Amino acid sequence: MTRLIDGKSIAATIKQRVADEVAQLKKRGRAPCLAAVMIGDDPAAASYARSQARHAEAVGIEHRLIELPARTSPEQAAARMDELAANPAVSGIMLHLPVPGPLDAFALQQRIPAHKDVEGVSPANLGLLALGREALAPCTAAAAMECLRAVTPDLTGRNAVVVGRSAIVGKPLAMLLLAANATVTQCHTRTRNLADHTRAAEMLLVAAGAAGLIGAEHVVPGTVVIDVGTHRVTVIDANGLEVTRTVGDVRFDEVAPLAAAITPVPGGVGPVTVAMLLQNTIRAAARQK
Ligand code: NAD
Repeated sequence: MTRLIDGKSIAATIKQRVADEVAQLKKRGRAPCLAAVMIGDDPAAASYARSQARHAEAVGIEHRLIELPARTSPEQAAARMDELAANPAVSGIMLHLPVPGPLDAFALQQRIPAHKDVEGVSPANLGLLALGREALAPCTAAAAMECLRAVTPDLTGRNAVVVGRSAIVGKPLAMLLLAANATVTQCHTRTRNLADHTRAAEMLLVAAGAAGLIGAEHVVPGTVVIDVGTHRVTVIDANGLEVTRTVGDVRFDEVAPLAAAITPVPGGVGPVTVAMLLQNTIRAAARQK
């Protein structure tokens, strides 16, 4: 029987724990505050910002959305990031992507001090992660780990295969798996014979950003499959109508019958990612002087 890894329920448990810790932090005069900077008017970023604010407020975290116009200069944007970095009332800072053309997202993210970098995107946090030290881990990679641990608490010596090597998901995920004593293979666009690697996996974690990349031919029976990919695609339904669906990097219908456990898309890694952002925010608040 395939087990469905229910991201919503994992996220609900984490958020309950976060809410309890927020209450404790407030008693100690350390009310957590998440500052989210959004530059320009990208509709997807705006929708994510609204949903993020709802999630934060639901657990008692103050959410400040700093909206800057698309014409903001690099100097003005940098100055706003620096103000937030220096503000003792702000525990965590994140930058909504994309930023408008002339601005450099990486340069702006680097202005976030490591202890306020709740998305775990700064070189300092990624460096700490690589060193096996305590760090604010990138939320999506940490969320994939939470989903995996929900069905495989002990990863020691297990073969984990990660498909994807982006700085924000694939690489930190491999580092988190190594820290949990898994044996890790990392695949990417230049990997030859992808299926040879993925078929050797006991745990397959896919963050390729390629809809439906992984099918039955890539998976042996009994694999735990974590699908990080999210894509909006248009398909023709049973009535011949065009409908929009959210799908992952894994062909769920083919792979689920083989897998020991699998995350659905939507409802898998996605909801847990938001919960990890909230968890990083209270960790940041707890550590700040
Ligand atoms: P990315 O495009 O930056 O990186 C994709 C990686 O996959 C690259 O390293 C590339 O080498 C590898 N790859 C691409 N095609 C491949 C192939 N055919 N074979 C082997 N390797 C291949 O993407 P990303 O930012 O790491 O995101 C990955 C996916 O995760 C995307 O679908 C994104 O939408 C999704 N995502 C989900 C969440 C969430 O909360 N669930 C958050 C962030 C990203």
